[in-house]
Amino acid sequence: MSAFKAPQRPPTFLHSPESLLGDTKDLIEKSRSRLDLLAKAITPETATFDNVIAPLAADENDMGLLSHILGFYQYVSTDAKIREASSQADKLMSEYSIEAGMREDIFKLVNAVYKSMPGDISPEGKRLVEKLNKDFIRMGLELEGDKRERFKEIKKELSILSIDFSKTLNEENGGNWFTEAELKGVPKDVIDILKAEEKDGEKKYFLTYKYPDLFPTLKFDVNAAVRKQVFIGNENKCPENLERFDKTIRLRHEKAQLLGYPSHAAFVLEEKMAKLPKTVRTFLGDLRAKLTEGGRQEVKKLKGLKQSDTEATGLEFDDKYYLWDHRFYDRLMREKEYSIDENKIAEYFPLQKCVDGMLAIFEKLFGLKFIQVAEEDAKVGTGERGWHEDCKVYLVKDEEELGGEFVGYLYLDLHPRDGKYGHAANFNLIPGFLREPGNSTSRNYPSTALVCNFSKPTPSKPSLLKHDEVVTLFHELGHGIHDLVSRTIYSRFHGTNTVGDFVEAPSQMLENWTWEPKQLKELSSHYETNQPLPDHLIDSLIASKHVNDALFNLRQLHFGIFDMRVHELKMPEDQALDSSVTYNELRSEIAGLDGPSDPKFGQGQTTFGHLMGGYDAGYYGYLYSLVFACDMYFTGFKKNPMDPKNGRRYRHEVLEKGGSRDEMESLKAFLGREPNSEAFFRELGITA
Ligand SMILES: [Zn+2]
Repeated sequence: MSAFKAPQRPPTFLHSPESLLGDTKDLIEKSRSRLDLLAKAITPETATFDNVIAPLAADENDMGLLSHILGFYQYVSTDAKIREASSQADKLMSEYSIEAGMREDIFKLVNAVYKSMPGDISPEGKRLVEKLNKDFIRMGLELEGDKRERFKEIKKELSILSIDFSKTLNEENGGNWFTEAELKGVPKDVIDILKAEEKDGEKKYFLTYKYPDLFPTLKFDVNAAVRKQVFIGNENKCPENLERFDKTIRLRHEKAQLLGYPSHAAFVLEEKMAKLPKTVRTFLGDLRAKLTEGGRQEVKKLKGLKQSDTEATGLEFDDKYYLWDHRFYDRLMREKEYSIDENKIAEYFPLQKCVDGMLAIFEKLFGLKFIQVAEEDAKVGTGERGWHEDCKVYLVKDEEELGGEFVGYLYLDLHPRDGKYGHAANFNLIPGFLREPGNSTSRNYPSTALVCNFSKPTPSKPSLLKHDEVVTLFHELGHGIHDLVSRTIYSRFHGTNTVGDFVEAPSQMLENWTWEPKQLKELSSHYETNQPLPDHLIDSLIASKHVNDALFNLRQLHFGIFDMRVHELKMPEDQALDSSVTYNELRSEIAGLDGPSDPKFGQGQTTFGHLMGGYDAGYYGYLYSLVFACDMYFTGFKKNPMDPKNGRRYRHEVLEKGGSRDEMESLKAFLGREPNSEAFFRELGITA
C-alpha cells in the first residue's frame, strides 16, 4: 500500500448469518432507545434544533455506518444463507424505518422546531428540518384512527412485497438447454463457458437468462425460433412476481389516496424536480410524438435488412419485425453499414486496461488519485480484499494540489457468479457526513461499490468489454464518483441522495467520454498487440452512435409511460387493469415492433426491479435527467472533455453538494444559467 495513511479503515465484510441478524437487531434496538430517550427528555415547548434535530441526524448517520452493508450482502455474497440473512436484515430495517418514521412523539418535536425555524442554522440544516417534517407527513402522521392504521399496514406490506420481488429476481436461475446447432452464430467464447451435459445422446448447453448469456444470443443466434424462445422465456422467468407487482400498484394507489393525493404518481412527484404528473406526461408525450416517425422509419429499414437476410438463406420472409429480431438486426446493421464488429472492437478493451484508463480520466478531470489497495495476503472479507476474491479495492484521495485529503474507498466487483445481483449498479456501503456538524475535520468518509456482470476472463483471453459495456462502466462509475466526492454535513444528503429525476444526470454525462476519439484512444489497448483502437474503427463507432436511436428511446418511453400508467390508476375501473396486457400493448403501440398475438404472452414488468423499488413513477427520470446531462456536457465539456477547470468546478458545484441543496441551484451554478433542452434534442437528432 502507498505511504499515504488513510484516516479511516476500509469496512469489513466478515458477517455470518447469525452475526448479521444480531447486528441488525442491535442497531435497531440502539436507535429505538435513542428515540425513546429523546421523546422522554424533550417536549414540543423545549424542542430546539440542537436537542431534537441534531440527535436525530446523528442517529441516522450512525445507522448508516453499518446498515447499508448489512443489506448489501444479499446482492453479492456467495453464501445463500448470508444472502437470506441479509434480505431478512433489509426487511427488519425497513420495518423499523417505518416504525421510526411513524412516531408521533418524535414528529411533534420535529414539527415544533419546523414551526419556529431558528434563523441561525446552516442552509443544509434548514433543509434537513424541512425534509424530516415532510417525511413524517408523508408517512401519514397527520392521518387519524383507522386511516392511520390502514396506512401503516400498507407500508409494511409494500416493503415486504418489494424485498420478495427483488429476491426472486436475484435468485432466478432458469434457462434453456440448446444444442450447438441451435446456438449457431453465438460467439464461441460465450458457448465455451456454458454448462454442458449429454442429453438424449446429444451434447447440450445450458443458457441462462443472465446478461452475458442472454444478450449475445439475442444478438447473434441465427435461429429466430431460439431467439423467440429465449426472449419470451426471459419475460416469464419470474412468475411469482406478477401477483406482487399487481398488488403493489394497487396498494400504492390506496396509500396515496389516504394521504389525499389523486395517485401514487402525484405523491411521488411532489418531491421531484418535475413536481406534477402532468409535467411528466407532457414531457413523455411530447418526446413520443417527436420520436414516433423516426422509429417507424428505423423499423422499415431493419425490416428490409431482415427480408434480404431471410431470403438469402432460402427462407420465406413473413413481413414482420419481431421483438426478438431487434437486437439481431440492429447488430447486423451496425456490422454491415458501419463495419461495426462489436467483438472485434471488444478486443481493444481488456477490462483492467479500461478500468485503469477510466480512473486516469477521472483523476485528471476531478483532481483525484486512485490507489489500488494491493494486500496480497488479505483474506476475503477484510476491508483490503472486499467480500469476494474478484473484488478490487481502491483508496481514493484528492490530488496534492487540492490538499491531498482522503476521499473514500471504491470497490469494484465486476464478474457474474451464482446468486449475485444480475445487473450493473452502484451501491453505497458507508455514507459520508460530519461527525460534528460544525467541524469540517470530523468527516466520516464514504465507501462505495460497483457491482457489474462483465464476462470473466477465459484461459485464452482476458475479460474484454464491448463498447456498450465500456459505456456501462463509465455510467456506474459516474454514480460511484458522485458517491465518493460528495461532502455534505448530513448523511441524508450524501452523494446520490438527490431527487430521482436528477440522480442519473452525472452518470449520463460521463457516458459522453466514451464517445470522444481522444478518450477512446486512451482507453483502448488491443489485448494481443497493445495497439489503441484504430481511427477507422473509432470513426465508424462514432458514426453508429445514433443508429436506431429512436427505437432505443421509444423503448425507454415504453417503460416510462407504462410506469406512469400503472401509478396513475383510476378506480374503480382500474381494479381490473391487467398489468401484462397493458405492458405488452403499450410496447407494441409505442415501439411498433411485432410480438405474439396473445396480449398476455409475457410479463416484462416482473423482470426488472426499477418499478418495485425506487423508480416507481420515476422511470421517466432517465430521460428527464438526460436533458440536464446533455446540457452540462455540451456547455462545460464538449469543446474540451478534459478541461480540468470545468471538471473541478463540476465536482464542486454539482457532485460535492449531493442532495444538500436544491438540484436546480446546483445546475444553475454550474451552467451559469437556467438549464434547457436544446442539447438533448440535438443529441436525439430532433431539430424541430
Ligand atoms: Zn444509473
